[in-house]
Amino acid sequence: MKEILLSALACPKCHGQLQYDANNQQLICPADNLVYAIKDNIPVLLESEAKPLNQSQPVQE
Ligand SMILES: [Zn+2]
Repeated sequence: MKEILLSALACPKCHGQLQYDANNQQLICPADNLVYAIKDNIPVLLESEAKPLNQSQPVQE
C-alpha cells in the first residue's frame, strides 16, 4: 500500500494525533477512543464513521 503521511492525519473530533494500526489497517484516536477505518488506502476521517475503540477487544459469549 502507499505510504500514508501520518503526521498530516489528525482526528476530526479533537484534532489530536492519530495512531496507525498496521495490523488492522485503521487509525486510532487514543484521546477519544475512536477507530477510523482505512478504505482503499484512504483514511476515513469522519466522526460519523468512527467506531468505538473497545470494539477491537473480542467479546466472548
Ligand atoms: Zn480524537
